[in-house]
Amino acid sequence: MNRLPYPREACGIFGIFGHAEAATLTYLGIYALQHRGQESAGIVASDGQRLRQHRALGLVNDVFRQENLQRLAGYAAIGHVRYSTMGTKSLANAQPTKVDYLHGSLAVCHNGNIVNALRLRAELERRGSIFSSSSDSEIVVHLIAHDESNDRLVAIPNALARLEGAYSILFLEENRLIAARDPHGWRPLVLGTLDRAVVVASETCAFDLVGAKYERDVEPGEVVEISAAGVRSHKPFEPLKRTAMCVFELVYFSRPDSYIFGRGVHAARKALGTELAREEDPELNADMVIAVPDSSNSAALGYAEESRLPFELGIIRSHYIGRTFIEPEQRIRAFGTRLKYNPVQDLIRGKSLVVVDDSIVRGTTSRKIIDLIRNAGAAEIHLRISCPPWRWPCYYGIDTPTREELIGSRLEVDEIGRYIGVDSIHYLSLEGLRRAVGGDVMTESEVGARFCSACFTGDYPTAIYEQYAKDMMAPRLFEDKMF
Ligand code: SF4
Repeated sequence: MNRLPYPREACGIFGIFGHAEAATLTYLGIYALQHRGQESAGIVASDGQRLRQHRALGLVNDVFRQENLQRLAGYAAIGHVRYSTMGTKSLANAQPTKVDYLHGSLAVCHNGNIVNALRLRAELERRGSIFSSSSDSEIVVHLIAHDESNDRLVAIPNALARLEGAYSILFLEENRLIAARDPHGWRPLVLGTLDRAVVVASETCAFDLVGAKYERDVEPGEVVEISAAGVRSHKPFEPLKRTAMCVFELVYFSRPDSYIFGRGVHAARKALGTELAREEDPELNADMVIAVPDSSNSAALGYAEESRLPFELGIIRSHYIGRTFIEPEQRIRAFGTRLKYNPVQDLIRGKSLVVVDDSIVRGTTSRKIIDLIRNAGAAEIHLRISCPPWRWPCYYGIDTPTREELIGSRLEVDEIGRYIGVDSIHYLSLEGLRRAVGGDVMTESEVGARFCSACFTGDYPTAIYEQYAKDMMAPRLFEDKMF
């Protein structure tokens, strides 16, 4: 179950060029992307002369006050919210990273995971680089600084060409914003306009909040240069035969009101639910469909529509859980889960339920939620998961447990059902997932060639898995991250 603590999204990024209120709009942009990272937030703004920065640990609303934003004067800005899949949780690792060096000032922030980061860092240290953080964004800055060219449109692609793995990345100079997406296109990156300004963001929900219009996705392998001269597209990399957009962005990570990878996320999730219902046992005789809120709501709606069963709000999720709470001395069963989820007892008592959720990671939270539903009086619980079993870790920017901790890699599906305590369980097939993601636009095989689904299949789009796993065993750095 994708509840705390796994899996978590890596980061969200937002940039704007050509607007008098650049910092305030960037603040709103990263506020809309808060679901992609809650550990730290930061903005760097440019007034054409110099770059100014503010960043801190915490949520966007806690990190920024009016006075911080007033100090970030200028017409261009980039912003970032972070959850650390790489590097430790510290202010030094908060992004954007800003540097001043021989060829001027530069700020950078990114979303994704550079899988050869340790290797590159060791190489740069041998060449004299001194690092002030363990974030892999700093590696990109050092690669650019080491480049012989003083033309950033040469140095940036040269640096990006050294990276293996996932990045959607923004660079801010005094008079230019540069956005790039790795050739596999793992993480989303969208381009839009706001009056005469140009905006770029991880997801379109950030555009909606600031009133910007979505224009298009930044393409895999594209470098977009945004300046007073307008928007110029550069394609410095050989296009790959196979891209690897993260299918889990559509299943769970992105907000349902976003439009990414050429699809509306809500529509894609509803289609997952539709496919799930089409794979249903015709003998099943359930009374209603409920979702584990909120990320499974769309899939549950799709399932209910297709199966012609009523969709009900059987579990209510509290949105007001603070960081700390006081637990009564007398232990309450599944207290942490109860804080967040509460079943509607008079609705589900004595009923046969189809419970739709979007994934099961370790299985422990699923078990507690099912326990709550059972104790609320449900007669039967049929758990339906809107993606295939999660069997393999992600190396491309999503924080996941080790293979041993993933219940999908340890147990067969019926064993998972028994462990969680449901009357029946079914996961969406890979074919069903691909049909849903493709919609009317792509065939199943096109989805297979364009999307990464390695966490279900173990078919990693790059040949770096073993090396990366070995690298990550090195205790020298990153001792508190995902492995
Ligand atoms: S392994 Fe899974 S979570 Fe990671 S990028 Fe691929 S599809 Fe996304």
